Amino acid sequence: MKPTLVLVGRPNVGKSTLFNRMTRSRDAIVADIPGLTRDRHYGHGRMGDKPYLVVDTGGFEPTVTEGILHEMARQTRQAIDEADLVLFIVDGRTGLTPQDKIIAEQLRKTGRKILLVVNKTEGMASSVVTAEFHELGLGDPCAVSAVHGDNVNELVELALLDFPQPEEDETKDKHPKIAIVGRPNVGKSTLVNTLLGEERVIAFDQPGTTRNSIYIDFERNGRPYTLIDTAGLRRRGKVLETIEKFSVVKTLQAVEDANVVVLVLDASSEISDQDAHIAGFILEAGRALVLAINKWDGLDNYQRDTIKSEIARKLPFLLNFAKFHYISALRGTGIKGLLPSIDAAYAAATAQLSTPKLTRILMAAVEKQPPPRAGVSRPKLRYAHQGGSNPPLIVIHGNALDHVSSTYQRYLENTFRTAFQLEGTPLRVEFKTGR
Ligand code: GDP
Ligand code: GDP
Repeated sequence: MKPTLVLVGRPNVGKSTLFNRMTRSRDAIVADIPGLTRDRHYGHGRMGDKPYLVVDTGGFEPTVTEGILHEMARQTRQAIDEADLVLFIVDGRTGLTPQDKIIAEQLRKTGRKILLVVNKTEGMASSVVTAEFHELGLGDPCAVSAVHGDNVNELVELALLDFPQPEEDETKDKHPKIAIVGRPNVGKSTLVNTLLGEERVIAFDQPGTTRNSIYIDFERNGRPYTLIDTAGLRRRGKVLETIEKFSVVKTLQAVEDANVVVLVLDASSEISDQDAHIAGFILEAGRALVLAINKWDGLDNYQRDTIKSEIARKLPFLLNFAKFHYISALRGTGIKGLLPSIDAAYAAATAQLSTPKLTRILMAAVEKQPPPRAGVSRPKLRYAHQGGSNPPLIVIHGNALDHVSSTYQRYLENTFRTAFQLEGTPLRVEFKTGR
């Protein structure tokens, strides 16, 4: 699992600036997907071979007990509970404040691992600026400047020091590992129940801690599957019951660990920012995706048309590749097609693409529509090979490929997608210029 680093600190110390820096290196896969909105609070980062997740908790107001600020504080506490490491940010220009002391006290009580970060230290001697913060008793502070980027790489290296580089999971791609995700109350638990039905639950051993999803192995038509249940089900006697509340970190971890994600939307309510953020995160992770638009029962035609156009408007980036299912998890209608779509998305995500066929398709695509000239040079595309799987990565070799436009890149992506029937999975096309 990727370590989750959670940024905590009072307002204005520079958390979101640091967050942006720490998530800048994310994959080019989402570089320009029209309509994709990112959640400014949850992101992927990578330091060398080590990937990580970052959560920005916004402001931490430890003393508020009601209203919206209280709700924020509750979410912050939940994120802290789920953190592998808390980065506690303080402001080196303002110096130590009483509120920092209160936060430090509360953080210490959680028993989480904490790294103290003194921000805004550009142009200052780090030993001087960090001196007063030793009083917090959280160990040696790390001095950075989020705006200038000073020492941020060193900070991330230090933060990741105790987390081993994730081993390639041998079993990961052997069969579909399906995460069922969505915001609270869309019907995830109901869907998990309906999907499993009377099937024998083979492994069911993890007690649901807040941040861990439950992994359920099952077989259908002689094929093995693993369901990653983020809603939190527990078997008590014959009944499955929900035990845990919604957790963003759990959702993100499940998406990372799955090879196919079923995003559940609620057709009886509006498509929200949270839906869009979860969808965006799935794409950012490069996961294959199947859409389940739930609670399709009890809607009239007008309502159905409305929700369809709302999805098209708010989640346009899904229309290209994800398969849509309109279902009622409660009544079990529309469910049958779900597993075949999951199979197809899985097959697409893990497809083996042969070099000769890739190159043949590339040549035909270039013939049909050559890459536009850029200045004096015309990009020359020579051959293609597969550079990775889940999501499929197609590497194109040739000359002057720095000049290939993103429009042309998308043209090639779509051509490969159609030729190899890669529905249900993001697809990456990269260029390598020979010398
Ligand atoms: P947040 O409320 O903790 O998320 O803080 P922001 O990231 O929004 O930053 C608050 C203010 O501090 C902004 O005006 C930033 O430009 C500024 N800031 C953030 N990092 C630094 C830094 O390293 N040096 C300086 N001088 N200002 C910074
Ligand atoms: P979760 O929080 O995403 O796990 O959602 P739940 O499975 O707990 O469902 C939330 C509520 O929506 C419950 O009251 C369910 O009975 C209801 N619900 C779930 N699926 C459907 C459905 O297909 N149709 C209708 N009408 N209600 C549903």
